[in-house]
Amino acid sequence: MQPLRRNILLNPGPATTTDAVKYAQVVPDICPREREFDDLMRQMRADLVRIVHGDPDIYTAVLFCGSGTLNMDVCLNSLLPEGKQILLVNNGAYSTRAHEICQAYHLPHLNYAVEYDQLPDLDEIDRLLDQHPDVALVYTTHNETGTGLLNPIREIGAIAHRHGASFVVDTTSTYAMRPIDIAKDNIDFCMASAQKGLMAMTGLSFVIGKRALIEASRHYPTRSYYCNLALQYDYFEKTGEMHFTPPVQTIYAARQAIKEYFAEGEDGKWARHQRVFSALHRGLARLGFQEVIRPEWQSGLVIAAAYPDDPRWDFDAVHDYCYARGFTIYPGKIAGANTFRLCALGAIDTPDIEAFFEVFEAALRSLGIPLPLASGKGEKQ
Ligand SMILES: *Cc1c(COP(=O)(O)O)cnc(C)c1O
Repeated sequence: MQPLRRNILLNPGPATTTDAVKYAQVVPDICPREREFDDLMRQMRADLVRIVHGDPDIYTAVLFCGSGTLNMDVCLNSLLPEGKQILLVNNGAYSTRAHEICQAYHLPHLNYAVEYDQLPDLDEIDRLLDQHPDVALVYTTHNETGTGLLNPIREIGAIAHRHGASFVVDTTSTYAMRPIDIAKDNIDFCMASAQKGLMAMTGLSFVIGKRALIEASRHYPTRSYYCNLALQYDYFEKTGEMHFTPPVQTIYAARQAIKEYFAEGEDGKWARHQRVFSALHRGLARLGFQEVIRPEWQSGLVIAAAYPDDPRWDFDAVHDYCYARGFTIYPGKIAGANTFRLCALGAIDTPDIEAFFEVFEAALRSLGIPLPLASGKGEKQ
């Protein structure tokens, strides 16, 4: 196995993968309708539920071919009964994407929008559900990947359930990193794609949720043919297969990544992500960068840092300097605020971050920016 050049991806997924995961894609050709492949998928569905500690009699995993947004689409369009509406708890770019999906399908919804750097008000969610007993689905994002803000899903889920609503959480940027317990966290449906926490390849996405709710949704309006949760679930249950052609080689890579996940262990892996995150914090603080989210509200996986208040700062130039040396940094995703992001996803560890900051610092110096930065005014009061 030839080692490949190792790039350190500090963007919010796809993440740095191991060579074993990359090479797991190189397999003899196989028709995915063979029993051998069904067995692989059956095991994978069980493993994906196990990662969030779900009871396999209650929860199941439904796999799709596509990127993570497909899961959001599937959950929103499939799980809304006739005559009911969705409550979106929205404090960032990814819940705003969910809002766009609701609009695209003309799904009745309430958009409870809060500032991108604020947590939702739990009393307000309670009040909205009191006022709108027709809300059947509460939806939010666990880690708002645009900012790194972590939402209090367990609390929101408890409120949703008290009002008889199902709770859907976009866990794409926490799954297989920050420990999740699907039952204790009051989650009815969560989701992820293979290229983020699992450290595998793009093209495989999955929804994990309650069998009984999926089965009930068979009688809800069908709003999509390809992206329908109950249709895909029924096909899996009947045949063990995806309804349409699965991303075969991507699934072999995901199988290897899941093996590595269980070998590293939930605690060990989360400890490593936290080490990487602390190293990112330290490096940014040493250079004088300001972060936009309060430290105690951060997910521990994504940092959004404000642009320095220096006319010589040039994100693209810094990016290109780092990229040429094997490190990828990523622009921000906050409307009206100039930020960039550094993320703790992927098969990386502290020495990679130390190596990154040498390069990053050299990039800033090459632009003539004095370090540490004068205390930035990017800081929000
Ligand atoms: C990455 C991500 C997605 C999916 O994005 P794709 O580009 O479709 O893979 C969805 N939600 C969150 C929170 C994410 O971080």
